[in-house]
Amino acid sequence: MRRALTAAIAALTVTTAGTVVTGAPGQAALPGWGRPKKPAAATPTPGSPGLGDSYFPDYGNGGYDVGHYDIRLRYEPATDRLSGTTTVLATATQDLSRFNLDFALDVESVRVNGWSAGFAREGAHELVITPPRPVLKGQQLTVVVKYAGVPSETLVQGYTGWTRVADGALAVNEPESAWWWYPSNDHPTDKATWDVSVSVPTGVEVVSNGVQPRAPLPEAGNRTRWSWRSVKPGATYQAFLAIGQYDIVTDTAPNGQPVVNAYSTTLGERAPAARASIERTAEVVDWESGVFGPYPFEAQGGVAGPIDGFGFALETQSRPVYGPGFWRRGSNPYVVVHENAHQWFGDSVSVADWRHIWLNEGFASYAEWLWSEEQGEGTAQELFDFTYASYPADSEFWQVLPGDPGAGDVFADAVYDRGAMALHQLRLAVGDEAFFRILPAWTAEHRYGNGTIAQFQALAERISGRDLDAVFTTWLFTAGRPEPAAAARVAVAPAQPKSWTAIRAAHQLLDR
Ligand SMILES: [Zn+2]
Repeated sequence: MRRALTAAIAALTVTTAGTVVTGAPGQAALPGWGRPKKPAAATPTPGSPGLGDSYFPDYGNGGYDVGHYDIRLRYEPATDRLSGTTTVLATATQDLSRFNLDFALDVESVRVNGWSAGFAREGAHELVITPPRPVLKGQQLTVVVKYAGVPSETLVQGYTGWTRVADGALAVNEPESAWWWYPSNDHPTDKATWDVSVSVPTGVEVVSNGVQPRAPLPEAGNRTRWSWRSVKPGATYQAFLAIGQYDIVTDTAPNGQPVVNAYSTTLGERAPAARASIERTAEVVDWESGVFGPYPFEAQGGVAGPIDGFGFALETQSRPVYGPGFWRRGSNPYVVVHENAHQWFGDSVSVADWRHIWLNEGFASYAEWLWSEEQGEGTAQELFDFTYASYPADSEFWQVLPGDPGAGDVFADAVYDRGAMALHQLRLAVGDEAFFRILPAWTAEHRYGNGTIAQFQALAERISGRDLDAVFTTWLFTAGRPEPAAAARVAVAPAQPKSWTAIRAAHQLLDR
């Protein structure tokens, strides 16, 4: 998955502060909340405005750990106006005099543990919240943010991650999408569960992650409220909304889980190809479970976005969203394989820092090679050979390091294609028996957590009993075209695998 302005966002710096609105006097706290349990040992200090990510240092915030988001919204497709309330349940990890959430829409009010709190805007996406009294380490933090805005017109450095379309909208983007629809601690290291409900005019559908805890409920004014629930912890950018005209098709997967597929009614002649691809989701997930370990989430499915939506696809938790471009030349199961592989590599096991993006894209791309092998459409070795030969030695492609591509190249071709090549070289180095033990061991060890490339290398070395430093250094961290291992010596003119065209077509939209 990709977005356009990663580099621009990465270059952002915090600028002017907004007006601080102080809490109204005389408002009572909820019983047991907001009151120090013991005398503070030190003076409470502000939570950090960022988590110090190598590429996006101001993403996320320090001083607390979120457990759950309750996102309750109202949306008007005719005007793109979004309003509502998000309740953030968190635990303070330090004595806090104030703390930040990441958010871009206009805020009306903030309450902390029942008390009206002061708030101010700083920089592009920081909401600075000052509770009327400090919050102590270990204390629960209930933050209620009331807000409204037009997300498609709310630009951060000229960009919005919210996609308005003719019949509704899509909140789908990476690395950041939450800024435009719910306040959050926006970094993959702070995972949480979430509930989302959206009121829309009756006749409009709302699709999101996980399961529907209740059927759509009629509301006054000819409106309907849709509810979705994610019960496994996820990263903030994994939450999504697809609002518009959708055909929703439900089924049961081989493992008994609900399958919810949704198809925009705007797809026209592309609709059959979208259905023929996305309807293989349960089959793909079943096969991937055999290779990667138990499926980590509570539901499955996919969303075929509208014809006027975005050009990419994203591995939104339990239910990827696909742009219409993937179906322009007919069905393409490879993008379904890619996005669902991310449910393990990216969603359940998320990057500890965005520089480790290879742990997402290299693995999801290699899953396509494994699927090709399984389907008899070309082995991973044949795909390695053809991919390697397709990039001349002097190509810029070889100058991007998949293991540390830089903030502007998080979704570069090399992260995907050289990333998949790196995994194939690892497989050759350790042998199939060890390789196919390493993959499920990784997803088990870091389930619902985070990982680094160094941790993955250490695990691979532990399981294989080999020193793999040369493989990782050569394929992930050295500029220039490496010589493949002797076992993978490339033919002068390798034959084109049957799966090549479909994989290429998908990657033209997934990476750049
Ligand atoms: Zn991907």
